[in-house]
Formats: sequence, C-alpha cells, structure tokens
Amino acid sequence: MTGRTHDLAAFSGLLIAFMSSNLASVSLVTLFLSLLFNQVGGILPDIDQPTAPFWRNLPIGHFIGKIVDKVLLGGHRFLTHSLLGVMFFGLLFYAILLFIKSIIGGVDLNIIFFSFIIGLLSHLLLDSFTKEGIPLLLPVTKKFGFPTNKRFRITTGKFVEHLVVVPIIIILDIVMIYSDHSTIINFFRHSLIR
Ligand SMILES: [Zn+2]
Repeated sequence: MTGRTHDLAAFSGLLIAFMSSNLASVSLVTLFLSLLFNQVGGILPDIDQPTAPFWRNLPIGHFIGKIVDKVLLGGHRFLTHSLLGVMFFGLLFYAILLFIKSIIGGVDLNIIFFSFIIGLLSHLLLDSFTKEGIPLLLPVTKKFGFPTNKRFRITTGKFVEHLVVVPIIIILDIVMIYSDHSTIINFFRHSLIR
C-alpha cells in the first residue's frame, strides 16, 4: 500500500481505540503526541524501501536507505513487516519514551506507546491485503496474506487501493467521528478551558 493509505489506516486505528475508551482524562499534549507517533508507526515499516518518504526527505537518504534495506533489514517486506519487527520497534520506542518522560511531564506514555503500536499494526494489516503478503511470523519466512488466494488481493498503488480501499477508510472515519461528535466537541471544550 502507498504511504497515504497507511497514514489513513493508522489514524482510523487510533480513532477506533479513542472512541472505545474514555477521552476525558487525556490531555491535549498526550493527544497530539499520540497522533504524531501513530502516524510515525503507520509508515515506519516501509523504511526498508530505499524510495520510502522517510529516506527521500534526507539529503543522501536514498543511498542510506539502500544500505539499511539490504544490510540491516533484509530487503523490502522482511523484518519490519513481521511481529518480530513490531517487538523490535516497540522496545526501541519505549526506550525513547522513557527519555521523553524525563523532559516532558504530564503526558500519558502508555497512551502514546499504544498509539504508536496501533500505527505499526495497521501497516501490517493493510499490507497483508496486498499481492506480496507479509512475513508475519519471522523467522518463518513464509509470507501471509488475506485472502489466502493471491489473485483476490490488492496491487499496491493501483485503482482498487485508490478507488475502493481509501474511500472505505475515509467513510469509516467520517461515520465514527459523526456518531461520536458530541464527545469530541466536549473533549476539546474542556481541554481548552482547563
Ligand atoms: Zn509496507
């Protein structure tokens, strides 16, 4: 899937988690950092692609991306697209959060951590619908995908992704926000007055 679709899916995953929990106790800073790191988690698995947006934005990013891709991560859709990769990124991110905690007070690190993990898992879920599948259970190298028959899966960047998957995710987001809009309005009203 393309970066935009992953951004959207990560956001939807976060929306579902927030809608099914109590927003009232979450601070605005926590919400902002949750959104930010949810989006980072949503695209992070594709750092194993030399052409990933992550690398394109660095001056010699394409070159570094190629080295990271081949030497460290084992090529596209390998370590970063597995549960082992989620554990690896999770531990790394937790260490970063402990550092952030020593600088910024008053943020709920657990919420930020799970927002990041939701982003990562949404990436894996979405890529499992594509023809290539993902090596979910590494070190078992078999690639998994849904449906199991590859012919019914999506080709990245083609019309099914743009004309079916993206609109479905957007409609889902709109329905979720609309059905709970009073909670969202109350949250921002209270946070801004607080
Ligand atoms: Zn991917």
